[in-house]
Amino acid sequence: MKYVSTRGAAPAVDFEGALLAGLAPDGGLYMPEGWPVFSVQEARAVGAMPYAEAAAEILSKFAGESFDKAELAAMTAEAYASFSDEAVAPVKALGPDDYMLELFHGPTLAFKDFAMQILGRLYDAALERRDERRTIIVATSGDTGSAAIEALKSCERVNVVVLFPEGRVSAVQQRMMTSVIAPNVMNIAVKGSFDDCQAIVKTLFADEAFARSVQLSGVNSINWARLAAQTVYYFTSWAKVCEHADAVNFVVPTGNFGDVFAGYAAKRMGLPIVKLGVAANANDILHRAIAKGDYTPEDVKPTASPSMDIQVASNFERLLFEAKHRDAKVLRAAMEDFAKEKSMKLDGETLAAIRDDFVSDAVSMEETLTEIRRHYEETNELIDPHTAVARAAARRLRQMGALDGKIVTLSTAHPAKFPEAVKEATGETPALPDFYADLFERPEKMEHAPADPAAVKALVEGAFGN
Ligand SMILES: *Cc1c(COP(=O)(O)O)cnc(C)c1O
Repeated sequence: MKYVSTRGAAPAVDFEGALLAGLAPDGGLYMPEGWPVFSVQEARAVGAMPYAEAAAEILSKFAGESFDKAELAAMTAEAYASFSDEAVAPVKALGPDDYMLELFHGPTLAFKDFAMQILGRLYDAALERRDERRTIIVATSGDTGSAAIEALKSCERVNVVVLFPEGRVSAVQQRMMTSVIAPNVMNIAVKGSFDDCQAIVKTLFADEAFARSVQLSGVNSINWARLAAQTVYYFTSWAKVCEHADAVNFVVPTGNFGDVFAGYAAKRMGLPIVKLGVAANANDILHRAIAKGDYTPEDVKPTASPSMDIQVASNFERLLFEAKHRDAKVLRAAMEDFAKEKSMKLDGETLAAIRDDFVSDAVSMEETLTEIRRHYEETNELIDPHTAVARAAARRLRQMGALDGKIVTLSTAHPAKFPEAVKEATGETPALPDFYADLFERPEKMEHAPADPAAVKALVEGAFGN
């Protein structure tokens, strides 16, 4: 399988090339040159396998020439053994045609573990072969940072640097990052916002001498390997809730459009999916894009679901590429316009193509808290605010007639990762799983920096430069 850039001005690469590069050199995102397709029978056979085996099977379609199936199977077995639920991604039936896919049983209690746990192992294997090292720098609003650290802390050939906005991640999120003390891990608390952290990372990537000195690499959700790994739970959950060739809808709490795009990929791979529901919080750019054709970022509004407090959704470019029939020239012009105008109007044809597969809704903070309370009253279970956004959107989309039949909502984080919002909604403080019982007693280690690329650069060079 070769990977092509959405902007068409970079050479095609193999899976390993896409893995280590992240972003393509022309600024585009890598896409598989074609979709591997499963018949319904094949999808059912794969979806019914134990999770790690299903993952190896699906990943081998994307990565087969870079990593053989036995190698992938060894990695997925190890990666998903670290999950605390035997099913890895269990599905709960909540009512007629109403299901919830639990994606928070990984080591850092959010769905990012599904991809990161594999990514760390892929990186180590690829770098071992090449006899190279990499320093990975990520900006995080909380979940990506802890998932990356947990996955990469024992990698021999990878250093990981996480920038988080000081005082703006939850206490649990911060502790999950700063209590991992390892020679290849550096946490930097930045005096600024998440956007400041992201801007610093961008500046550092553009600094060629620095990038060379520390062998910089990126693992944010534009990395194709992450999306490939996330297609798997669409297959396994479909096999659990559907018989024969029946089709299902998924509603996905969405920020950077990575998770829901993995669902779209699964549909293109032959999985019987009717619609994918994009559930946004008050940062509703994707809802405005899908409902009205208006893709215009506004200022980021802080909400109770911070991992979705994003305006420019990087992976949306992948969907535009598909909707514009993979015409990289047209897409490049559109993205260049967008960079200039800070706004994009989707034409009728593009919009129609998108609406074949997607519906959308946006959920306010008040509705999010109401949903957490309602869920608690109805089921006696606590859900996290990101999950609540998806459940509120799913209910409304069904009421409006935009979705019909079976709906699986994705539950992307454990409620104990966001105890403040859950407590505000229900009066209950969700308990952390036993393996984090002593989280607040563990020693912490972090660096501090102003929102200034030079300060961050000095810290990283000091630790990992050569
Ligand atoms: C990252 C994240 C999301 C959003 O996923 P995207 O792939 O960025 O759309 C939703 N919920 C939680 C808990 C997350 O950590």
